[in-house]
Amino acid sequence: MYYKGADQWVEIDVEAIIQNLREVKSILKEQVRLIAVVKANAYGHGAAGTASILESQGVDFFAVTYLQEALKLRKTGIRSEIMLLSPLSREEQVAEAANHDITLTLSSTYDAQIVNRVSSECGREVKVHIKIETGLGRFGMNLQEALEVCQMLAQNSFIIMEGIYTHMAEAVSVRCSQEQFELFSATIDQLAANGYTFALKHCANSAVGVLYPHMQMDAVRSGTLLSGQYPTGVYGEMKLRDPFKFKCRVISLKNLKKGINLGYYQTYRLKRDAQIAVIPAGYIDGLALEVGNQPAGLVDLLKTILKIILAYIGIRRFGKTVLIKGKTYPIRGKVFMQMALVEIPESETMAIGDEIEVPVRKTLVAKAIPRLYYYDDRIISEEELDPETAALITGGREYA
Ligand SMILES: *Cc1c(COP(=O)(O)O)cnc(C)c1O
Repeated sequence: MYYKGADQWVEIDVEAIIQNLREVKSILKEQVRLIAVVKANAYGHGAAGTASILESQGVDFFAVTYLQEALKLRKTGIRSEIMLLSPLSREEQVAEAANHDITLTLSSTYDAQIVNRVSSECGREVKVHIKIETGLGRFGMNLQEALEVCQMLAQNSFIIMEGIYTHMAEAVSVRCSQEQFELFSATIDQLAANGYTFALKHCANSAVGVLYPHMQMDAVRSGTLLSGQYPTGVYGEMKLRDPFKFKCRVISLKNLKKGINLGYYQTYRLKRDAQIAVIPAGYIDGLALEVGNQPAGLVDLLKTILKIILAYIGIRRFGKTVLIKGKTYPIRGKVFMQMALVEIPESETMAIGDEIEVPVRKTLVAKAIPRLYYYDDRIISEEELDPETAALITGGREYA
């Protein structure tokens, strides 16, 4: 297979994805639908491949952020409902979405008017979900705006008002989530009093679905749990497994003497004679990259600073390591754009071409790096993986 020539690739464990799906299903109350969020290339796992596996297991509703992501899923052969989590702001986009049966988010009178116009012009039915703003400050309408939009769209027989939803700002905060939930529920009640009802009411992402079962409503939109992780600050009994491994090969190996300085700015001095391996993974691949965002408070800020200091003074647990043949080795010096240096004791046998597993930020690994899906003894590239192939390979065992 072509990946034999590549020095970087991603291995995805199909069984792990299926297990995560089973675990997520197990926390959903009866009648609650799962909307599988596969945005951002399915959090790095490959959107086409991951959605194909999930659909083969019976998942019938997906969500992504942008139109291009949805169209890619249709091209792969995904037949389930696909919903956009952001509004469309141009007519051409709405027409294209309508032609591919994509469910839209309406977040304001501005985008609702465009959908209203285009759906009747092209004479195609369009499913929509109304987004309510309850505290995130991203997309969404207040009650007044929602009422106007509902009034306008009720006249249009091409519009199917399937759902209404909101998104939580701080799931782990009970107070914050409860406040948003109450505002959302009140808005739904007011709309109902005016004759506007929705089959799918939803406000829960992974964290909310786990923490507050009463907020599962009609559907839970989950991505993080499916990717094998608990959301930050959420803990539980689910047996989640990380399906993702970033792999590469040693591309250079040399012996260097104690005292030699390594990397740009020579930030690390070798403490003993060692073998230094160059690996083809750098910060562009999400290695040693933290999301540079505003800290969530003083504690968060101090934690971040402390971690940097501990890694700096060489506390192993806070430094970056890689796995080679099941053993960990430290990354030394500053990580380069596309490479990094690894220190291996002189006494150990190591060779150019040896396989390395590198801990990277999954969501940052470029789409161009091949995703390979492992199931039993089969290895399938993402290009070969559509829902039919996925069903054949896995036997469509779980929910199909
Ligand atoms: C990303 C996203 C989700 C999924 O959140 P997870 O925490 O990954 O489950 C749900 N809803 C919206 C609107 C999102 O943007």
